[in-house]
Amino acid sequence: MLKFSFQNTTQILFGEGQIASVSKQIPSDAKVLVTYGGGSIKSNGVYDQVAAALSKHTWFEFSGIEPNPSYETLMKAQDIIKQNDIDFILAVGGGSVVDGSKFIAAAALFEGDDPWDIVSKQARIRKALPLACVLTLPATGSESNTGAVVTRDGNKLPFHSPLVRPIFAVLDPAVTLSLSERQIGNGVVDAFVHTMEQYLTYSVNAKVQDRFAEGLLLTLIEEGPKALSPETSKDLEVRGNIMWAATMALNGLIGAGVPQDWATHMIGHELTGTHGIDHARTLSIVLPGVMKVCKEAKRGKLLQYAERIWNVSDGDEDSRINRAIELTEQFFDTMQVPTRLSQVDLGAADIDLLIEKLTQHGMLKLGEHGDVTPDVSREILTAAL
Ligand code: NAP
Ligand code: FE
Repeated sequence: MLKFSFQNTTQILFGEGQIASVSKQIPSDAKVLVTYGGGSIKSNGVYDQVAAALSKHTWFEFSGIEPNPSYETLMKAQDIIKQNDIDFILAVGGGSVVDGSKFIAAAALFEGDDPWDIVSKQARIRKALPLACVLTLPATGSESNTGAVVTRDGNKLPFHSPLVRPIFAVLDPAVTLSLSERQIGNGVVDAFVHTMEQYLTYSVNAKVQDRFAEGLLLTLIEEGPKALSPETSKDLEVRGNIMWAATMALNGLIGAGVPQDWATHMIGHELTGTHGIDHARTLSIVLPGVMKVCKEAKRGKLLQYAERIWNVSDGDEDSRINRAIELTEQFFDTMQVPTRLSQVDLGAADIDLLIEKLTQHGMLKLGEHGDVTPDVSREILTAAL
């Protein structure tokens, strides 16, 4: 196992009706900014629940944070923050709202000249407004981690700071019942790929992390399809297991003391930045390519994955690995996400620009060995045609 330091300070408030507890979690004298997206929380009752919980607080709102939140939109929140002396942010929504609110929280107290430096130059964040969230879409893990992704002019880039980790996160599985099938599939696949980014590398004999990761993968494979099937889709146990799995997949626990990959995410960000493809759908296209092209470097873990996740133990090593990749693609099919660039109307002619942008963004040495150069990324995208 590698050296690590692990701390996750987000208080999780899990279960039906937990939105009401927001009233006790936020200091009564705080001036709160409630941030949200395009309005799903107005039609599914979440906004009303939040408003009821904040009935004794002073609060303002900022809406319109779009999927893959843009710098321009997020900067519009700064005026409301200044005018009203906001000192607490409550993000209500999916990963985009939580990520966007993390940027808003950091930009509000940023000491440099240009808050875009936080993302483009990884400028150090020394202060941020305190932030908490009510999660409405299980997927990203943003509700209890330190990361966020922001887009400006087709450049989709991540930043990290412990200062933007949510203080608390409400996870009420009932609020996920209004999700479309597309968002359910996307969420399960994003959580699955987060787990794979921290699991499918090389062994450092981290047995606890491996078995936690395998538990999450098996849970998502078991429960994901149930959330799409008419007989079981409204089952709150199914929704709750998916929700908790998605949080655990990227809250630092399974990633402590193990090598991490993240090539799938970094290549995927270019597909979203350039072509606007949903985040998870870029991952389901790129991951099988990574598994194929990086097969040698990942051989041991691919065999472990084949056996422990898919019960594939017959045949020679290569056929077991190929079968595991095939079963992964079938799982993605079941979750109704694409596994090929052709399914999103992209072809060989589109790869050059994606590689150019990866290079521009400094994504020159991706993967757990730092050996996924732009040439290797090209092979991965070619394998995804
Ligand atoms: P999202 O972009 O936050 O939301 C997608 C859509 O789902 C929105 O249109 C939203 O509508 C709708 N929605 C959310 N909750 C709903 C509900 N309960 N009922 C009905 N509709 C609902 O999706 P996401 O997958 O959670 O977030 C994706 C973003 O997170 C990407 O930018 C990705 O790069 C980033 N990400 C972050 C991390 C991290 O660690 N921070 C990790 C992976 C990905 P409204 O706008 O109307 O609410
Ligand atoms: Fe992701």
